[in-house]
Amino acid sequence: MITVTGARKDFGTFRALDDVSIEIPSGTLTALLGPSGSGKSTLLRSIAGLESLDAGTVVIAGRDVTRVPPQQRGIGFVFQHYAAFKHMTVRDNVAFGLTIRRRPKAEVRAKVDELLEVVGLEGFQHRYPAQLSGGQRQRMALARALAVDPEVLLLDEPFGALDAKVRADLRRWLRRLHDEVHVTTVLVTHDQEEALDVADTIAVLNRGRIEQIGDPDTLYDAPDNQFVMSFLGSVS
Ligand code: ADP
Ligand code: MG
Repeated sequence: MITVTGARKDFGTFRALDDVSIEIPSGTLTALLGPSGSGKSTLLRSIAGLESLDAGTVVIAGRDVTRVPPQQRGIGFVFQHYAAFKHMTVRDNVAFGLTIRRRPKAEVRAKVDELLEVVGLEGFQHRYPAQLSGGQRQRMALARALAVDPEVLLLDEPFGALDAKVRADLRRWLRRLHDEVHVTTVLVTHDQEEALDVADTIAVLNRGRIEQIGDPDTLYDAPDNQFVMSFLGSVS
Protein backbone atom coordinates (compact mmCIF):
# COMPACT_ATOMS: atom_id res chain seq x y z
CA MET A 1 0.00 0.00 0.00
CA ILE A 2 2.77 2.42 0.98
CA THR A 3 6.28 1.85 -0.28
CA VAL A 4 9.09 4.19 0.69
CA THR A 5 12.37 3.49 -1.05
CA GLY A 6 15.75 5.02 -0.28
CA ALA A 7 14.32 8.06 1.48
CA ARG A 8 16.82 10.74 2.41
CA LYS A 9 16.05 14.09 4.03
CA ASP A 10 18.58 16.71 5.08
CA PHE A 11 17.92 19.79 7.19
CA GLY A 12 21.01 21.85 6.43
CA THR A 13 23.94 19.60 7.31
CA PHE A 14 21.78 17.34 9.50
CA ARG A 15 20.57 14.09 7.93
CA ALA A 16 17.12 13.39 9.39
CA LEU A 17 16.40 10.40 7.11
CA ASP A 18 19.23 8.25 5.84
CA ASP A 19 18.33 5.72 3.16
CA VAL A 20 15.04 4.64 4.71
CA SER A 21 13.01 1.94 2.97
CA ILE A 22 9.79 0.42 4.26
CA GLU A 23 6.82 -1.41 2.81
CA ILE A 24 3.50 -1.01 4.59
CA PRO A 25 0.89 -3.55 3.45
CA SER A 26 -2.71 -2.55 2.85
CA GLY A 27 -5.00 -2.70 5.87
CA THR A 28 -2.24 -2.99 8.48
CA LEU A 29 -1.47 -0.84 11.50
CA THR A 30 2.23 -0.02 11.49
CA ALA A 31 4.04 1.87 14.24
CA LEU A 32 7.10 4.03 13.62
CA LEU A 33 8.82 3.74 16.98
CA GLY A 34 11.96 5.46 18.18
CA PRO A 35 13.40 8.01 20.56
CA SER A 36 12.83 11.72 20.14
CA GLY A 37 14.71 13.09 17.13
CA SER A 38 15.06 9.70 15.39
CA GLY A 39 13.17 10.87 12.29
CA LYS A 40 9.69 9.41 12.87
CA SER A 41 7.77 12.59 12.14
CA THR A 42 9.98 13.41 9.17
CA LEU A 43 9.25 9.98 7.68
CA LEU A 44 5.51 10.34 8.32
CA ARG A 45 5.46 13.88 6.94
CA SER A 46 7.32 12.65 3.86
CA ILE A 47 4.65 10.00 3.30
CA ALA A 48 2.03 12.75 3.71
CA GLY A 49 3.86 15.08 1.31
CA LEU A 50 4.44 17.71 4.00
CA GLU A 51 8.21 17.28 3.55
CA SER A 52 9.88 16.81 0.18
CA LEU A 53 12.58 14.16 0.05
CA ASP A 54 16.13 14.91 -1.10
CA ALA A 55 16.33 11.39 -2.51
CA GLY A 56 14.08 8.36 -2.74
CA THR A 57 10.46 7.70 -3.65
CA VAL A 58 7.05 7.32 -2.02
CA VAL A 59 4.47 5.11 -3.70
CA ILE A 60 0.90 4.96 -2.35
CA ALA A 61 -1.57 2.45 -3.78
CA GLY A 62 0.64 1.84 -6.80
CA ARG A 63 1.00 5.54 -7.65
CA ASP A 64 4.33 7.34 -7.37
CA VAL A 65 3.38 10.36 -5.24
CA THR A 66 6.91 11.61 -4.54
CA ARG A 67 6.11 14.90 -6.26
CA VAL A 68 2.36 14.95 -5.61
CA PRO A 69 1.01 17.59 -3.17
CA PRO A 70 -0.45 16.39 0.18
CA GLN A 71 -4.10 17.04 -0.64
CA GLN A 72 -3.87 14.75 -3.67
CA ARG A 73 -2.36 11.77 -1.86
CA GLY A 74 -5.57 10.28 -0.40
CA ILE A 75 -4.48 10.51 3.21
CA GLY A 76 -5.98 11.55 6.53
CA PHE A 77 -3.69 13.08 9.12
CA VAL A 78 -4.00 13.48 12.90
CA PHE A 79 -1.40 15.38 14.94
CA GLN A 80 -0.69 15.42 18.65
CA HIS A 81 -2.23 18.85 19.08
CA TYR A 82 -5.28 18.66 16.94
CA ALA A 83 -6.69 21.94 15.71
CA ALA A 84 -10.47 21.54 15.98
CA PHE A 85 -12.75 24.30 14.80
CA LYS A 86 -13.76 25.77 18.15
CA HIS A 87 -16.88 27.49 16.84
CA MET A 88 -18.24 24.28 15.25
CA THR A 89 -20.04 21.43 16.97
CA VAL A 90 -18.56 17.94 17.07
CA ARG A 91 -20.91 16.97 14.26
CA ASP A 92 -19.83 19.88 12.04
CA ASN A 93 -16.17 19.24 12.77
CA VAL A 94 -16.48 15.61 11.69
CA ALA A 95 -18.53 16.62 8.63
CA PHE A 96 -16.07 19.32 7.58
CA GLY A 97 -14.16 17.41 4.88
CA LEU A 98 -17.42 16.23 3.32
CA THR A 99 -19.10 19.62 3.50
CA ILE A 100 -16.26 21.40 1.70
CA ARG A 101 -16.46 18.71 -0.97
CA ARG A 102 -20.14 19.64 -1.37
CA ARG A 103 -21.38 16.10 -0.76
CA PRO A 104 -25.19 15.70 -0.55
CA LYS A 105 -26.62 16.49 2.90
CA ALA A 106 -28.18 13.06 3.44
CA GLU A 107 -24.90 11.34 2.60
CA VAL A 108 -23.01 13.61 5.00
CA ARG A 109 -25.51 12.97 7.79
CA ALA A 110 -25.34 9.19 7.36
CA LYS A 111 -21.55 9.14 7.21
CA VAL A 112 -21.15 11.36 10.26
CA ASP A 113 -23.66 9.29 12.28
CA GLU A 114 -21.74 6.15 11.41
CA LEU A 115 -18.38 7.65 12.40
CA LEU A 116 -19.63 9.17 15.65
CA GLU A 117 -20.83 5.74 16.62
CA VAL A 118 -17.55 4.10 15.64
CA VAL A 119 -15.59 6.52 17.85
CA GLY A 120 -18.15 6.42 20.66
CA LEU A 121 -19.26 10.04 20.47
CA GLU A 122 -22.93 9.51 19.52
CA GLY A 123 -24.20 11.50 22.48
CA PHE A 124 -21.77 14.36 21.95
CA GLN A 125 -22.61 15.55 18.46
CA HIS A 126 -24.02 18.92 19.53
CA ARG A 127 -21.22 19.78 21.91
CA TYR A 128 -18.36 22.08 21.12
CA PRO A 129 -14.70 20.96 21.28
CA ALA A 130 -14.15 22.90 24.50
CA GLN A 131 -16.84 20.75 26.13
CA LEU A 132 -14.97 17.51 25.39
CA SER A 133 -12.18 15.79 27.31
CA GLY A 134 -8.75 15.50 25.64
CA GLY A 135 -9.40 11.86 24.77
CA GLN A 136 -12.79 12.67 23.27
CA ARG A 137 -11.25 15.46 21.20
CA GLN A 138 -8.69 13.07 19.72
CA ARG A 139 -11.47 10.61 18.90
CA MET A 140 -13.29 13.43 17.15
CA ALA A 141 -10.08 14.18 15.24
CA LEU A 142 -9.88 10.56 14.11
CA ALA A 143 -13.52 10.58 13.00
CA ARG A 144 -12.87 13.76 11.06
CA ALA A 145 -9.81 12.29 9.35
CA LEU A 146 -11.76 9.15 8.45
CA ALA A 147 -14.80 11.03 7.11
CA VAL A 148 -13.39 11.41 3.62
CA ASP A 149 -12.54 7.70 3.34
CA PRO A 150 -8.78 8.16 3.13
CA GLU A 151 -6.74 5.30 1.72
CA VAL A 152 -4.17 5.93 4.42
CA LEU A 153 -4.44 7.29 7.95
CA LEU A 154 -1.30 8.92 9.39
CA LEU A 155 -1.15 9.52 13.14
CA ASP A 156 1.69 11.53 14.69
CA GLU A 157 1.73 10.90 18.45
CA PRO A 158 -2.05 11.43 18.51
CA PHE A 159 -2.30 10.54 22.20
CA GLY A 160 1.02 12.04 23.26
CA ALA A 161 -0.37 14.99 25.19
CA LEU A 162 -2.80 12.93 27.27
CA ASP A 163 -2.28 11.22 30.61
CA ALA A 164 -1.34 7.55 30.86
CA LYS A 165 -4.78 6.21 31.72
CA VAL A 166 -6.50 8.04 28.85
CA ARG A 167 -3.69 6.99 26.49
CA ALA A 168 -4.21 3.35 27.37
CA ASP A 169 -7.97 3.67 26.76
CA LEU A 170 -7.42 5.35 23.38
CA ARG A 171 -4.94 2.69 22.42
CA ARG A 172 -7.47 -0.07 22.88
CA TRP A 173 -10.02 2.04 21.15
CA LEU A 174 -7.71 2.71 18.15
CA ARG A 175 -7.15 -1.02 17.81
CA ARG A 176 -10.92 -1.67 17.77
CA LEU A 177 -11.46 1.13 15.27
CA HIS A 178 -8.76 -0.31 13.05
CA ASP A 179 -10.23 -3.80 13.21
CA GLU A 180 -13.54 -2.31 12.12
CA VAL A 181 -12.46 0.14 9.41
CA HIS A 182 -9.26 -1.58 8.16
CA VAL A 183 -7.75 1.61 6.81
CA THR A 184 -4.00 1.36 6.33
CA THR A 185 -2.66 3.20 9.37
CA VAL A 186 0.79 4.50 10.29
CA LEU A 187 1.22 5.53 13.92
CA VAL A 188 4.22 7.53 15.11
CA THR A 189 5.07 7.00 18.76
CA HIS A 190 8.05 7.11 21.11
CA ASP A 191 6.13 4.88 23.53
CA GLN A 192 7.28 1.24 23.32
CA GLU A 193 4.27 -0.03 25.20
CA GLU A 194 1.88 1.74 22.84
CA ALA A 195 3.60 0.27 19.78
CA LEU A 196 3.78 -3.25 21.24
CA ASP A 197 0.14 -3.02 22.24
CA VAL A 198 -1.56 -1.82 19.06
CA ALA A 199 0.66 -2.38 16.03
CA ASP A 200 0.72 -5.33 13.62
CA THR A 201 4.20 -4.27 12.58
CA ILE A 202 6.77 -2.02 14.23
CA ALA A 203 9.60 -0.19 12.49
CA VAL A 204 12.24 0.91 14.99
CA LEU A 205 14.00 4.13 14.03
CA ASN A 206 17.27 5.49 15.35
CA ARG A 207 19.19 8.50 14.03
CA GLY A 208 17.31 8.62 10.76
CA ARG A 209 17.67 4.93 9.96
CA ILE A 210 15.43 1.91 10.39
CA GLU A 211 17.07 -0.54 12.77
CA GLN A 212 14.51 -3.33 12.41
CA ILE A 213 11.02 -4.00 11.09
CA GLY A 214 8.91 -6.82 12.44
CA ASP A 215 5.88 -7.88 14.40
CA PRO A 216 5.86 -7.05 18.12
CA ASP A 217 6.73 -10.58 19.28
CA THR A 218 9.69 -10.89 16.94
CA LEU A 219 11.09 -7.50 17.92
CA TYR A 220 10.66 -8.21 21.59
CA ASP A 221 11.93 -11.80 21.55
CA ALA A 222 14.50 -11.59 18.77
CA PRO A 223 15.89 -8.06 18.46
CA ASP A 224 18.42 -7.68 15.64
CA ASN A 225 20.79 -5.51 17.61
CA GLN A 226 21.63 -3.85 20.89
CA PHE A 227 19.69 -0.69 20.13
CA VAL A 228 16.41 -2.50 19.45
CA MET A 229 16.93 -4.70 22.49
CA SER A 230 17.58 -1.86 24.90
CA PHE A 231 14.92 0.44 23.44
CA LEU A 232 12.16 -2.18 23.57
CA GLY A 233 13.54 -3.48 26.83
CA SER A 234 12.95 -0.16 28.54
CA VAL A 235 9.19 -0.75 28.64
CA SER A 236 8.08 0.51 32.03
P1 ADP B 1 10.97 12.49 15.84
O1 ADP B 1 9.60 12.69 15.28
O2 ADP B 1 11.45 11.08 15.79
O3 ADP B 1 11.10 13.05 17.22
P2 ADP B 1 11.74 14.34 13.74
O4 ADP B 1 11.49 13.59 12.50
O5 ADP B 1 10.78 15.37 14.13
O6 ADP B 1 12.01 13.31 14.93
O7 ADP B 1 13.15 15.06 13.64
C1 ADP B 1 14.32 14.35 13.33
C2 ADP B 1 15.49 15.32 13.40
O8 ADP B 1 15.38 16.27 12.37
C3 ADP B 1 15.55 16.09 14.72
O9 ADP B 1 16.90 16.19 15.11
C4 ADP B 1 14.98 17.42 14.36
O10 ADP B 1 15.56 18.45 15.16
C5 ADP B 1 15.37 17.58 12.90
N1 ADP B 1 14.36 18.38 12.18
C6 ADP B 1 13.09 18.02 11.95
N2 ADP B 1 12.43 18.97 11.25
C7 ADP B 1 13.33 19.96 11.04
C8 ADP B 1 13.28 21.23 10.37
N3 ADP B 1 12.16 21.64 9.77
N4 ADP B 1 14.39 21.97 10.36
C9 ADP B 1 15.53 21.55 10.96
N5 ADP B 1 15.65 20.37 11.60
C10 ADP B 1 14.58 19.59 11.64
MG1 MG C 1 7.91 13.58 16.13
